[in-house]
Amino acid sequence: MNAQEVLNELKRRFPNEPEYLQAVTEVLESIEEVYNQYPEFEKLNLVERLCIPDRIFSFRVTWVDDRGNVRTNMGYRIQHSNAIGPYKGGIRFHASVNPSILKFLAFEQTFKNALTTLPMGGAKGGSDFSPRGKSNAEVMRFCQAFVLELWKHIGPDTDVPAGDIGVGGREIAYMFGMYKKLSKEFTGTFTGKGLEFGGSLIRPEATGYGNIYFLLEMLKTKNIDIKGKVCTVSGSGNVAQYTVEKLIELGAKVVTLSDSNGYIYDPDGIDSEKLEYVKELKEMYRGRIREYAEKYNCKYVEGARPWGEKCDIALPSATQNEIGEDDAKTLVANGCIAVSEGANMPSTPAAIEVFQNAKILYAPGKAANAGGVATSGLEMTQNSVRMSWSREEVDAKLKDIMQSIHAQCVKYGAEPDGYINYVKGANIAGFMKVAKTVIVQGIL
Ligand code: NDP
Repeated sequence: MNAQEVLNELKRRFPNEPEYLQAVTEVLESIEEVYNQYPEFEKLNLVERLCIPDRIFSFRVTWVDDRGNVRTNMGYRIQHSNAIGPYKGGIRFHASVNPSILKFLAFEQTFKNALTTLPMGGAKGGSDFSPRGKSNAEVMRFCQAFVLELWKHIGPDTDVPAGDIGVGGREIAYMFGMYKKLSKEFTGTFTGKGLEFGGSLIRPEATGYGNIYFLLEMLKTKNIDIKGKVCTVSGSGNVAQYTVEKLIELGAKVVTLSDSNGYIYDPDGIDSEKLEYVKELKEMYRGRIREYAEKYNCKYVEGARPWGEKCDIALPSATQNEIGEDDAKTLVANGCIAVSEGANMPSTPAAIEVFQNAKILYAPGKAANAGGVATSGLEMTQNSVRMSWSREEVDAKLKDIMQSIHAQCVKYGAEPDGYINYVKGANIAGFMKVAKTVIVQGIL
């Protein structure tokens, strides 16, 4: 089957998995040209083998809430590919989690991890449990119950989970504690751990910082300085916070943040002090972004995303499909010159088309947010050799990796008119690396 036939077949077999089909379609359409140059791929049915995960675990998670009620949630782990290293990818706790979303994330993760230059396969997991509004004790009991099932499928050389939406340092620590007890070992089976028990410096910052390092490379191709640029950021969690931190350090002006209820617009810009407040609000009090607007007396828009606000650079850092076609048109009409994705698949296919037709700089999450998993890879290395690297060492490695990912995108994505199609570049570079590995390892 050629790539288009495989896609049609996947649509027939998985009709109720829109996010998964969206991610697969984007990759297959952008690699078609290269794929057709390798007739052996078709014979080996390579595309289908790379699109369908190696295996999917799903399980019931049973836990007790603070009132003594017994509750259930669904838990999942999708092991997509371990062609180039152990399965690796985050855990998401959010009410919207379902197999389609996790399959899209595990698929993307496989090619993203291939781009990092580190030996990591791709996976993703999670649950439809939402930590929002739950007490610490409830979150702990849930994490322990989740790992009671998950631990059978993971290990330092098998599958190494990390955080994602709804899973930060607190949740990783609870899961690691339970895993350690069940497996009777102290190994680096989770990344994003606390510094005291094997975590890496810069891991919390890595996705946000990495996105900005990638953005700087993109801006360099056009001789544009980031200083003074007005930036809109969505989300207010891990990725958004450290994106803002790096932007402030570099002299850019960030005017928005959001959460699932709405967004704030601060025309004076979010400075370091305001950012500290956001970190406290989100990490300690687990409050809403609306409270920022109340404290700093600025605009709050309920039920909306920040893309209508004028900016030079947009950094979506919340969730999938948060920039639609109309948002993209508004961004371009308002003079936006670059979009760099901290979140996974935040732009819809129609929005991506708008950015690319307008020839603005556009980096897909697969490339731009790979700094998070890359630093998780560095955490795995430090755990293996039982050493900790300094902040400067890890940051320098992260920068190198983001520059290398950018170079791969340019190599495979430069078009005849000089425009760099980062989607095509990232997909071809990632896909070809995994594809060639799968071929030499035989039919499995
Ligand atoms: P967090 O849970 O720390 O923060 C997520 C933020 O996005 C919160 O502000 C949350 O609001 C908001 N959000 C979540 N779901 C929705 C939704 N459906 N609609 C609107 N807003 C929403 O997660 P992260 O910062 O870790 O992750 C953000 C994105 O970055 C995700 O796409 C993730 O896959 C991606 N990513 C994360 C990496 C990491 O290292 N953490 C690595 C690579 C990618 P609320 O508080 O209201 O839920």
